[in-house]
Amino acid sequence: MSEHANLLRRHRAVMPSWMALNYTDPIEIVGAKGNRVTDAEGNGYLDFFTGILTNMLGYDVPEVRDAVERQLATGVVHTSTAYLLRGQVELAEKIARLSGIPDAKVFFTNSGTEANETALLLAAYARRSGQVLAMRQSYHGRSFAAAGVTGNRAWTNVSFSPLDVHFLHGADRHLPQFAGMTDEQYIDACAQDLRHVIATATGGDVAALIAEPIQGVGGFTMPPDGLFAAYKRVLDEFGILFVSDEVQTGWGRTGQGFWGIDNHGVTPDAITFAKGLGNGFAVGGVVARGDLMDGLHAVGISTFGGNPVSMAAANATLDHVLDHDLQANAARQGATIIGGLAAAAGRFPVVKDVRGKGLMFAIELADPGTGEPSPPLAAALMEAARERGLLVGKGGLYGNVVRMAPPMTLTDDEAAEGLGILIASLEAVSDTAV
Ligand code: PLP
Repeated sequence: MSEHANLLRRHRAVMPSWMALNYTDPIEIVGAKGNRVTDAEGNGYLDFFTGILTNMLGYDVPEVRDAVERQLATGVVHTSTAYLLRGQVELAEKIARLSGIPDAKVFFTNSGTEANETALLLAAYARRSGQVLAMRQSYHGRSFAAAGVTGNRAWTNVSFSPLDVHFLHGADRHLPQFAGMTDEQYIDACAQDLRHVIATATGGDVAALIAEPIQGVGGFTMPPDGLFAAYKRVLDEFGILFVSDEVQTGWGRTGQGFWGIDNHGVTPDAITFAKGLGNGFAVGGVVARGDLMDGLHAVGISTFGGNPVSMAAANATLDHVLDHDLQANAARQGATIIGGLAAAAGRFPVVKDVRGKGLMFAIELADPGTGEPSPPLAAALMEAARERGLLVGKGGLYGNVVRMAPPMTLTDDEAAEGLGILIASLEAVSDTAV
């Protein structure tokens, strides 16, 4: 048995069977530089999924490495939140300012799951209610409460929750009930659905709506820009809070705003974040209205949340995004790739949809004969791209969406290379599908 096959065998023996591994023959990444990674067999790949949107500046970035090494050199790897920590205050100041939330305060966690858990706790406490609204097809994490507001049974086996959760159907514009509607009619139908759910299923005393402005795991669904403004108007009538889960959409990746929700012209009561902020180092958190944050009358601590090493990485990463205007780069490179894919899509009957904003884009695959969602075609496209040296991700309610979120530092040449590989891979998959 090869070393690689043996590692896979050992993985399967001791890791949970539900832990998602990409590819029929999973890859062991052993090296990374710039926007490329190398596997244990020496194959190189351009990375269009960056971990899971975690390495948003690419790999081995000098500023981030230097900041972390400087922190390590002080010997202060961890002291706990019981002491003042300069890096934490500096990062909180930046995020509070960027959030657009009035009098914002920030609490750091280690992951997106904990960030959402915290936001739900704040909202439930502020409203003295365990009732929460969430979206179908959503993904918010793997804790009990976060899994409970996850509206996709493929990603959570929790069919009960400590919260009383009601799901809205608005996130996916492609659902059959919206067929033939204009964006305005669709937004109106969603707002009516929200009002109806609040009035008939809850009696009004709901803590919050938690939603991803663009669903990540759900397959990069792209609701029209006014949707959350319409939702917010209804929520405000009832005093219900709005939590925007920006774990995938934050930091300018959509190219059209610093947060995904900016496209909707809405200021949430709380924003949760994680993934890209530490450029691979574990850091997440919540930024919320100060009264909401301070309203939790309990002594709070997170042992590792906001630790000095993560804070050093996160400060350097965020500074890099802002100093190099990576939001503009995301808009530009995304337009090239999405435009190129959309122009080619007509040649491939397996492509049901190409969609995206900035460096968050997806190809939805369907059986050319029946039009039904096709997970095998999505898997085949992933494999074909891998064979040609490109890593991508998968998602969607049925696992039939290939989604991509390249590093925000993507260059013109890399964008062209990735686009070329995707089109060649679509050709290969289409040839075998007919
Ligand atoms: N929220 C969203 C939108 C996510 O995509 C994820 C992870 O994929 C999470 C929350 C959970 O984050 P984590 O895996 O860091 O706990």
